[in-house]
Amino acid sequence: MMRSISSVALRLGLCVTSLAIFIVDTLTSLNMAVAVLYVLVVMIAMGSFSAYGVVLVGFTCAGLTLAAFLISHGDELFSSALARCLFSLVAIGITAWLASKSKKTSDRLQEQLRLLAQTHDAIIVCTMDSSIRSWNVGAETLYGWKADEVIGRNCWELLQSQSVVSLDDIKNELLLKGSWEGELIESTRDGKRVTILTRWSLYRDRQGRPRAILASNNDITDARIAEEALHRSQVELAHISRITTVGELMASIAHEINQPLTAITTNAEAARRWLGRSVPDLDEARGAIERAAGDARRASEVIRRIRGLTRKGEPRYERVDIETVVSETLTLLEREIQRHQVKVFCRFGVQLSPVWGDQIQLQQVLINLIINGIQAITLRENSSRDLHLSVIESNGQSIVEVRDSGVGIDTQNLTRLFEAFFTTKEHGMGIGLSICRSIIEAHGGRIWADGRVGEGAVLSFCLPILVQEPSE
Ligand code: ADP
Repeated sequence: MMRSISSVALRLGLCVTSLAIFIVDTLTSLNMAVAVLYVLVVMIAMGSFSAYGVVLVGFTCAGLTLAAFLISHGDELFSSALARCLFSLVAIGITAWLASKSKKTSDRLQEQLRLLAQTHDAIIVCTMDSSIRSWNVGAETLYGWKADEVIGRNCWELLQSQSVVSLDDIKNELLLKGSWEGELIESTRDGKRVTILTRWSLYRDRQGRPRAILASNNDITDARIAEEALHRSQVELAHISRITTVGELMASIAHEINQPLTAITTNAEAARRWLGRSVPDLDEARGAIERAAGDARRASEVIRRIRGLTRKGEPRYERVDIETVVSETLTLLEREIQRHQVKVFCRFGVQLSPVWGDQIQLQQVLINLIINGIQAITLRENSSRDLHLSVIESNGQSIVEVRDSGVGIDTQNLTRLFEAFFTTKEHGMGIGLSICRSIIEAHGGRIWADGRVGEGAVLSFCLPILVQEPSE
């Protein structure tokens, strides 16, 4: 409203000024180019007219100049007044042309600034010592303060920004690279803590001196909460899947534990017999007790592995030797492998590097792949029953391959295997491979399948090898 009133006042002022110049130009016989004053009219017009409006004002002024000349000097056209008139026309023309050009540029800039101000991103401009210079509508919406309440205040202190990297380190990187991107925890006006994804750009002046920081901020609090919920459900699902696997392997596990338990009983009875003789044979009794102790250790080792698999909770990342994971998994599945008369071949590269991961989760992936392989083999009649496991290293990756001589995979399904609930088995759940994928991807790796119907399948995954243990 205020703007339109001042614009009307300005236009009115322009009309009055133009009229005054016209009257002076027509009625007085000053020996000077009075019409040159129209240049002022054109320049003032820039404040309230568009670029085309400015040109129009220029033409009007030129028209008034000509009219004043014809009225006052119509009887003697070729006099010094003509030169003054031409001089004025040239001045008005050049001014109008330059003014309309600069008006076009400034309109374009204004438009861009308006668009920038309307963006949903919170755009904040600060000086190098974090004093706020500009605060757009997006920042008002996100943080709750109006621009005039924050201009001049220290941004870092106002928003109580927290980052894993110190402000000094951030500024150093900004000075070095010209930009910085990261996550901050900040406070809104009502005290809510929000997670912000921020991108900073450094503005330097013509001399190359750092002058301001432009920060573009997005609230990713909800996305982070959703990610955490997803992560929790993945951990939960992986745990349920492990429990299901243990349930399916119960027969094999019972056998694994039963064997050493039977041996313990046999050895304990033997020891009792050796000790119960009229002359106890202590050496034989000691031997039997030692064998019983060894069997007890074997049984507790099996129980330890099962307990590991049924463990609930967040993944525990540590240095993991993939070869050990493969060997332990094979021991756990030994009975299952024997039951289906599958021959296992292992090939390990020399001096394999460790990876960074959760041993139990990686074991879970291998159990899934090996059991799927065994099931595929049992579905294919009259063929060799081979399962090849290999671990090699290539391009900084540890690559694990599980190749079976089973029914193979329809090429159309190669990528769908990893989708949740995709199954071709009558009693399948179709979540094993999707869990494998989320585990491997959470470890920074990739999992894929290969094979054709009737030609067996190859399920592989790769994990980055551990160069340096990540710091806490
Ligand atoms: P489920 O075993 O419950 O079906 P998975 O996610 O473990 O669930 O496997 C999904 C599907 O992938 C299986 O139903 C099967 O069609 C296919 N698949 C997985 N491994 C193999 C394999 N080694 N050979 C052939 N098909 C396989």
